[in-house]
Amino acid sequence: MSSDRVLIRAAMVIDAQMVRAAPGAVFIEHGRLIAAGSPQAIGRPDDVRVVDLPSSVLVPGLVNAHAHLDLTHLGPVNYGGDFVNWIRFVRTGRAVDSVDIAASVRRGAALADTGGTALVGDIAGAGSLIPAQVLREVGMAGVSYVEVFGVGRSQGAAVERIRALCAEYGQADGPVRVGVQPHAPYSCGPQVYRAASSSGLPCATHLAETLDEELFTRRGEGAFADLLRSIGVWDDTMTPSGRHPVEHVAEALGEAPFVAAHLNYVDMEHLPMLARWGVHVVYCPRASTYFGHPVPGRAPHRYRDMLEAGVNVCLGTDSMLCLDTPERISVLDEMRLLHRRDGVDPRLLLRMATVNGAAALGFDPATVTLAVDASSARGEAGRRSVLAVEPPDEWIGDPLRGILMSNTSPTWILHPDRGLVI
Ligand SMILES: [Zn+2]
Repeated sequence: MSSDRVLIRAAMVIDAQMVRAAPGAVFIEHGRLIAAGSPQAIGRPDDVRVVDLPSSVLVPGLVNAHAHLDLTHLGPVNYGGDFVNWIRFVRTGRAVDSVDIAASVRRGAALADTGGTALVGDIAGAGSLIPAQVLREVGMAGVSYVEVFGVGRSQGAAVERIRALCAEYGQADGPVRVGVQPHAPYSCGPQVYRAASSSGLPCATHLAETLDEELFTRRGEGAFADLLRSIGVWDDTMTPSGRHPVEHVAEALGEAPFVAAHLNYVDMEHLPMLARWGVHVVYCPRASTYFGHPVPGRAPHRYRDMLEAGVNVCLGTDSMLCLDTPERISVLDEMRLLHRRDGVDPRLLLRMATVNGAAALGFDPATVTLAVDASSARGEAGRRSVLAVEPPDEWIGDPLRGILMSNTSPTWILHPDRGLVI
C-alpha cells in the first residue's frame, strides 16, 4: 500500500461552499486534496491506504482573523473589570526584547496550530517584524499587522513607520504578508489612519470596542483621555470629532478595506456604511464576553444584523489573556460559544470561520474549502487543509452540530504546511 495515497472515511465532510456529505470521505494523494464528498462518489482508488474515522467530521483548516500571538505568555488572566487598568497591564507585561517576542509568538502559533488554524490575522503589538518572521519559520500563513500608535503631535513617527513598511512590503506577496494596524481611534489620530489607508498595505484596527471609546471620539473625555494624559501624550492639537468611532475614522475606512475587530457598540445606521466601505468585521465573542460587552442596557452584538446588511463578518480569538482554553487558540471555540449561546446555524458559523476570514485577510477563500487542490508544491499559500473534529461520545443527530457541542481540539489530517499528518 502506498502511504502517499490515503482515503479517509468519516461521519461527515463539509465546507462552506460546495462540499457536504454524510457519511463523507476525502482522498489525498502526495499531500494534495484530490477529492472530497460521499464515499460512493469517491469510490475506492487503487493502491490506497484507508483510514476510518467513523465519528469524525472533516472540515477545512480555520481562519483566526484577529489574534495577538505576542501576548500569549501573559495569559489567561482574570479581568479585573477596568479596561484601562487592563491596557496598563498589557503595556507593562508585553515582551519588548526580540527573543521574548519571538518566544511568545512561537508559543501562540503552536497553540493556534493545535486549534486548527490555517490562516491567521496576527497583531504585532510591539510594532515589530519578528512575529512575521516567526510565522514564516513555523509555516503559518496569514497577515502580520504591525501595530502603530500616535495621537496629536506624536503622529509623525507612526506615519513614518507606515511609509517605511509600505516601501519595503507594499508589493510583497507570499504566505505571510505584512500589514499595518492603527491600534484604535483613541490611540491613533487621523494622520495615522490616513497613512494606513493610503499605504496599499493590508489594514486592520480595533473599532467601537468600548463605550469609553465613543466618549473619547465624541467629546475627548473619559478613561482614554485620562490614560493619554497620564502617559504624557495628550496635547492641545487633539480635538474630538463629535462623532461615533465608526464615523470618526470614516475617511480611512472608505479608502481601504479595513479589517476591524470587535464593533461591540455600533448602531443600525452604521451597518450600511460598513457594507458600502467593504469593512471586514472580526467578531471575537469570547473576548467580548470576557470584557463584559455589551454592558447591560445595550443591544447584543449586531453580527447577525451586519451579515444581513451585507457586511463580511468573520471570527477571531483576540489574545490568550481572555481565553478559557489555555491548551489551544481556536475560532472553533468561538463557533461553539455562538452556537450554544445564540443558536446560530452551524453552517453559517463554518462560513464565518473559514471563507469569510480568508476574504478579510485578502487570501483566496478557496484556500479554506475542500475544493480540489490545484496547487503543485508543498508550502505554497493556497494549499488545502483538512481537520477532523469529534462530536461528544454517543452523539446522535447532525454531526456538524455535534462538533460544536464537544470541547475537544481538532486533529490535523492534511496540514497546510506539513502536508499529510495521519
Ligand atoms: Zn485585539
